[in-house]
Amino acid sequence: MAVRRSLSILGATGSIGTSTLDLVALHPERFEVVALTAAKQVAALADAARRTGARLAVIDDEALLPELEARLAGTDCRAATGRAALNEAAVCADLVMAAIVGCAGLEPVMAAVEAGRVVALANKEALVTAGALMIDAATRHGATILPVDSEHNAIFQCLVGSSLDEVAKIVLTASGGPFRDRSLAEMRGMTPKQAVAHPNWSMGAKISVDSATMMNKGLELIEAHHLFGLPSDRIDILVHPQSVIHSMVEYVDGSVLAQLGSPDMRIPIAHALAWPERMTTPAERLDLASIATLTFEQPDPERFPALRLARAALEAGGAAPIVLNAANEIAVAAFLDHRIGFGDIAALVEQAIDRTDAPPPRSVADVIDIDARARDTTLQLMTAFAT
Ligand code: NAD
Ligand code: MG
Repeated sequence: MAVRRSLSILGATGSIGTSTLDLVALHPERFEVVALTAAKQVAALADAARRTGARLAVIDDEALLPELEARLAGTDCRAATGRAALNEAAVCADLVMAAIVGCAGLEPVMAAVEAGRVVALANKEALVTAGALMIDAATRHGATILPVDSEHNAIFQCLVGSSLDEVAKIVLTASGGPFRDRSLAEMRGMTPKQAVAHPNWSMGAKISVDSATMMNKGLELIEAHHLFGLPSDRIDILVHPQSVIHSMVEYVDGSVLAQLGSPDMRIPIAHALAWPERMTTPAERLDLASIATLTFEQPDPERFPALRLARAALEAGGAAPIVLNAANEIAVAAFLDHRIGFGDIAALVEQAIDRTDAPPPRSVADVIDIDARARDTTLQLMTAFAT
């Protein structure tokens, strides 16, 4: 019988957050939910807090605090807003699911790491922007970072505790997104609706656009570097449209280990939540006979310039990945808001990187400062792109 662990879910109303809540509801003997957070979805947050019996609910938008309080009236759950409350949510449980989208999740993730917690990390932007600082802090404070991103979770499973010098390289698989077969000219005219319609995975809007540009794979390249300590030239990207193999590890003897499963985030989420044990999920079982064919191809660097930009940012190090991420967050939001075209996203990110000359960050405060400046620079550059 598993020991019951306290759990906080940061970003509880999103795609990863609600999948986490579904799994927790299936395994009430394993988890005691103590804190939940959301940006603006006050009704969903209050409902989840009532269902789980959480003691703390944090809403980012302070104008919504009175409504949250009203919705939680008569419960033992405290409603709160603000940075301190978000950080409290991050440290008040043994296990924290970090599922906020974007660099906005960095501070609470670092708070959890510095408190020595077990962090199930979905929020890849936190690692992309502050990876070296976070891995260093995890070592110093005895925190455990468990990857939830399906590729990194797959690699974590395939590594089975091997030492890095036994690993020749890791191979991140990519679905290629909804525009894998589109020409460059066709891609330029794609709408937000088309971009968020991912062929295999159901996800939040930002990561869905990142999948369409393949910036998602670029961010995952940087994420993999920090999580597994491998240099850029030992991390390959391979397009695999069926999303059955979630990633692979090639060992020095030529053996390749892959993790397979149906494309359902509840599988890697469950792996991280139950680790080092396993727990059941309602995910569809993999039926290889009916899938029959798995295919692979090289990513096209011309149609997906985000891959080149992300690899260059990883190799440059310092502030470059922070600027890449910040510019991308601003560009994706503008695209979703119909203010720039699909093709403008990578162009804007490239210009923002070229324009920035910040020293390497030495603290999370530096990261947040570089992030804020890069957002301003990107907004200024965007006036030349606006549709
Ligand atoms: P989502 O947009 O569906 O949900 C994001 C959550 O974060 C929501 O609860 C939202 O209220 C909260 N949030 C957003 N902005 C915030 C802010 N400024 N302050 C506080 N809270 C805020 O996103 P998602 O698809 O669940 O993705 C979450 C993270 O997990 C992202 O970093 C994404 O890259 C990563 N991820 C997601 C998937 C997936 O299948 N959805 C897969 C792999 C990795
Ligand atoms: Mg992924």
